[in-house]
Amino acid sequence: MKDLRIRVRGQVQGVGFRPFVWQIAREAGGKGEVLNDPEGVLIHIRLADPDGFVAALGDRAPPLARIDAVEVSDHRFAIEPLDFVIAASRGRGAETRVTPDAATCPACAAEIRNPAERRFGYAFSNCTHCGPRFTILTGLPYDRAQTTMARFALCPDCRTEYQDPADRRFHAQPVACPACGPRLWLEEAGSEVPGDAIYLSAGRLKAGAILAIKGLGGFHLACDAASPSAIAELRRRKRRPAKPLALMATLEMIARHAGMTPEDAALLADPAAPIVLLPKDGAPLPDDLAPGLSVIGWMLPYTPLHHLLLEAFGGPLVMTSGNLSGEPQVIGNDEAREKLSGFADAFLMHDRDIARRLDDSVERITPFGPMVLRRGRGRVPGTLPLPPGFEAAKPVLAFGGQMKSAICLVKNGQAMLSHHLGDLDDALTQEEYAKALSDFAALFDHRPELGACDLHPEYVSTRSADTSGLPLLRVQHHHAHLASCLGDAMWPLDGGPVAGIILDGTGYGSDGTVWGGEVLLGDYRGFERIAHLRPAPLPGGDAANVEPWRNAVMRLDQAGLAGVAADLFPGKALATIRAAVAAGFNAPLSSSAGRLFDAVAALLGFCPDRQSYEGEAAMRLEAVADVAAAALPYANENGIIDPAPMISAIIVGLRKGVPSSQLAGGFQSGLARAFAFAARETVASGKAKAVALSGGCFQNPALLNAVLAELRGVPVLVHARVPANDGGLALGQALIAAAESV
Ligand code: ZN
Ligand code: ZN
Ligand code: FE
Repeated sequence: MKDLRIRVRGQVQGVGFRPFVWQIAREAGGKGEVLNDPEGVLIHIRLADPDGFVAALGDRAPPLARIDAVEVSDHRFAIEPLDFVIAASRGRGAETRVTPDAATCPACAAEIRNPAERRFGYAFSNCTHCGPRFTILTGLPYDRAQTTMARFALCPDCRTEYQDPADRRFHAQPVACPACGPRLWLEEAGSEVPGDAIYLSAGRLKAGAILAIKGLGGFHLACDAASPSAIAELRRRKRRPAKPLALMATLEMIARHAGMTPEDAALLADPAAPIVLLPKDGAPLPDDLAPGLSVIGWMLPYTPLHHLLLEAFGGPLVMTSGNLSGEPQVIGNDEAREKLSGFADAFLMHDRDIARRLDDSVERITPFGPMVLRRGRGRVPGTLPLPPGFEAAKPVLAFGGQMKSAICLVKNGQAMLSHHLGDLDDALTQEEYAKALSDFAALFDHRPELGACDLHPEYVSTRSADTSGLPLLRVQHHHAHLASCLGDAMWPLDGGPVAGIILDGTGYGSDGTVWGGEVLLGDYRGFERIAHLRPAPLPGGDAANVEPWRNAVMRLDQAGLAGVAADLFPGKALATIRAAVAAGFNAPLSSSAGRLFDAVAALLGFCPDRQSYEGEAAMRLEAVADVAAAALPYANENGIIDPAPMISAIIVGLRKGVPSSQLAGGFQSGLARAFAFAARETVASGKAKAVALSGGCFQNPALLNAVLAELRGVPVLVHARVPANDGGLALGQALIAAAESV
């Protein structure tokens, strides 16, 4: 017999780890105890076969557990153990106590379909391996009294399950059943419709209605994804002419309409149940779902409510966030009645409150595996380990950017990157952002000693940092992107310099101009700008972000093709913007790759006048681009990458009638080649050890693949768990500040 002390670190609390240990300890004839404490799970055990037990800890761990480390040492029992027990938690410590929300597990999904079960057809079934977590949390520690389930008293049956370590609902805080849990109803014209809410809702959807459906992290607007008229009506009511709509369907349904690899299917079925971008393939759905794009976002049903509704409806459903344009998603019942009544014909409601607003995560499979494009439900509040060398970092709070805002906390060698909070131009999002700052501080018992923010003085996030009272590090936007990628790839603090290809929208540059197409040589501690796109004016400032023709005219002028602009963009105020640029009025210089995408898109006829959502022109260009097209030429003189020859080639191509798929593909491949060449040189000369790819443009898989192809043979770091766009900025800021503190 051996007496051991076993420490398990990772995501091991609130995931059924103690009952799991209890079970395998009993099987092994062990005596002792298991308990939660601030560092994770602690086991004291006397048993004959320690190796088998330790192996089982890793091999048979519950589905939502993530084990970072198992440390085994000798133990001396003060009192002889007689049995194996789950002991009371010890110590205070919050940071690892809350896990992300998890999609309905197979056992619960089967149960709600089994007429012999008491939870047959019940929309709020869950267990230790699935169900709401972060979205129902009102305080810490995480137990039922500190969730929005507090008002539902457990019935005797549920209590028995909750207290039985052998039951899969042991200590599942949101456990519920039809006798004691939340209830579902359909509401129309202000009153409840009598009857089965799921059956009634499916009928309304089949008839072409638009429903507001209360989900996990907010309300969705839903309609029949196969009905062009329902989709058109939804777009008309939301005044959203073209922004792609996400769909919810079963794996079988998705396979009929999308190209899906085994990796895609596995990502869809992840407990986080993200929206996964998949190519349109097979039986076509109405083009209006994602006009002009080659991919559609799909997700699996992730609550029993969704499972039951999809089954009753029998086809894919549009599931787009229920909000007013630009505002955060609606979460309250009264809020929904007030704000969504103009959009929805009926409301599928329930009485379990949503404590935290969480958008659906958006992800895609790249040659490196899954890549998070928007971090939300299912991923937050999962922590990210810090790369080697950051162990002694001081607690840091990073304030993020302006668009796709998110904050990041560093504590105890881990980073906690918040979910997507939205664009801070919107007043309600600003409120949401301020709430997140206090919310995350409380949740993670975080007392920062250092703050980090963007160099841009006018970002709402920067102003928030200014008033925080913290010593602040102001981080250049694209340096933060670089550090974010390094951290995501676990590049060590002393791993040496890396060449970062940063292809992005716009960010405040160290020289006062607007940056966004750079090669930065550096690491967490600093950087040097060794190459960049030749800057062009952004005529009209922010107007240039939404009206692609403005960028096209500037690039034509630079290429000596000013005369072409009038033919391509008839009726535009060309003289006015040129005069403004000449006078230096509201026309900042910018090396933004995003705006170059817009310029080329406008030349090729994609949304030249106006984009109806951010990235529309670039996404439409990407959708048609032929990835096999020959790269168009760019000039490179002393690190200034000049797109003028490419612009000239496009105009020649247009005159010759070369298809836009060729020109779009040639533009992307040429851009990839020009930047990869500049970065590759730094590795060849020994100045850099690897190349890192960051910035929003790298969410475009064709560009990512083209750059990867040009960098063959060079070590490349890419984003995976952290968005390459501004949603990942806060992690980079946090790491740069943390590096300073070590
Ligand atoms: Zn379950
Ligand atoms: Zn019950
Ligand atoms: Fe950015």
